[in-house]
Amino acid sequence: MSTVFGRIRDLVSSFLRSSESYEEAVGSFIKELQKEMIRADVNIKVVSELTSRIRERALKEEPPPGVLRKEWFIKIVYDELSKLLGGDISLEPFPKSFPWIVLLVGIQGSGKTTTAGKLALFYKKRGYRVGLATTDIYRAAAYEQLKQLAEAIGVPFYGEKIGDPIEISKKAIKTLLNEYFCDIVVVDTAGRHGYGREEDLLREMKDIAEAIKPSEVVLVVDASMGQKAFDLAKKFHEWTPIGSIIITKLDGTARGGGALSAVAATGAKIKFVGDGEKLEDFELFNPRKFVARVLGLGDIESLLEKFKAIEESDEIKKRLEKAVTLGKMSMRDIYHQLKSIKKLGPLRKVLDLVPGLSMLKIGDEILKGSEKKIDIWINIIDSMTYRELDNPSVIDRGRIRRIALGSGRGVTDVRELLDYYELVNKMLKDLKRGKLRVKGLDLDKLGGGPGE
Ligand code: GDP
Ligand code: MG
Repeated sequence: MSTVFGRIRDLVSSFLRSSESYEEAVGSFIKELQKEMIRADVNIKVVSELTSRIRERALKEEPPPGVLRKEWFIKIVYDELSKLLGGDISLEPFPKSFPWIVLLVGIQGSGKTTTAGKLALFYKKRGYRVGLATTDIYRAAAYEQLKQLAEAIGVPFYGEKIGDPIEISKKAIKTLLNEYFCDIVVVDTAGRHGYGREEDLLREMKDIAEAIKPSEVVLVVDASMGQKAFDLAKKFHEWTPIGSIIITKLDGTARGGGALSAVAATGAKIKFVGDGEKLEDFELFNPRKFVARVLGLGDIESLLEKFKAIEESDEIKKRLEKAVTLGKMSMRDIYHQLKSIKKLGPLRKVLDLVPGLSMLKIGDEILKGSEKKIDIWINIIDSMTYRELDNPSVIDRGRIRRIALGSGRGVTDVRELLDYYELVNKMLKDLKRGKLRVKGLDLDKLGGGPGE
């Protein structure tokens, strides 16, 4: 499956693992993102607006303490893609006026008839009087399929097996409104014209729309369509302005590449998603959830959790306590520590949060020095790869040079940071082994032990 979203996910992975400097990595990510989106036929204006917003934020924003700049960048991409798809809020699903007439359009097999049933159930459950109608006269089974759904849900149905779809649509509305007193009517349509010609189908949709003047024309798009969805959505939109989009089959292997294209092609927003064949497999579209899913849950979810966590300030305390308990501190802890210091003020204050640690006299001189080096060291850590962060012992001479170059800092600065890392860890190790006695620090109380 190659969809624009599938590729974005790969881009995210390689971005996080790249050994380029932050600025370079952002530059290449954006270039690739543009290429992918243009290849997927996403409107060029949409692409350039999206990427320039991402670039601007990427270079301007400071991540909160504890978050690497590269991680924060992914958050920015996630934010901006979510915004493109509708932002924080789901579209209002409830009718603005009555009667509310919904016309479902889309190609055969996209899931229109199933979606008509899902909509009927959704609104019926919420107390509306819903009616279902079909204008599909080309497939004999189409009439039966919707009729059975209507019976199963317990809502009125109108359809005719033969005749003129436009006349049928008018009669359906009249009947369902005047005889069944429906407040919502969902009109299902054919996805393939009798002669199989696309233009005939598009004209028929236009004629039906003109005949019944729907409150909303809804384009039903199969999630697995990828870039084909763009052309399709564009054509429908040209003939019959699309008011909203419903994405179906999100339960499949597809990651929903068609969604972005359909949105880009019509300017309409996604209102619902279907994620299964059953009538209950239907929910309001949530842009953030969707983007998290397509960006790759593994990568993004843990990051998002982390962003939330840092909002709680006792994180800093916890990290330092853990370092004392385990007798070691990772480069990520140090990064976090540096960021906290920047945000929270003097190092001593942060250390005061941990009982006993502030009394580590040996560390004082070096830590004092580090206060001046905060910005330098933050830059340096930003230029490290994941592997280097997780295991600084792999950083040899060559890597030191590369990191220095990437961060725009000196080789000596990189060495000093590595020395600091080692010294802190030695101190913590000694402390844990009991070589260092510190008044007021009860190691047993902090828990942990060998092998943890
Ligand atoms: P239409 O031709 O556009 O009316 O499409 P249908 O509603 O007849 O659906 C075509 C096929 O897709 C049927 O087998 C449906 O059961 C299936 N389908 C529809 N929506 C979904 C969905 O959200 N998930 C899955 N897995 N299948 C779906
Ligand atoms: Mg159908």
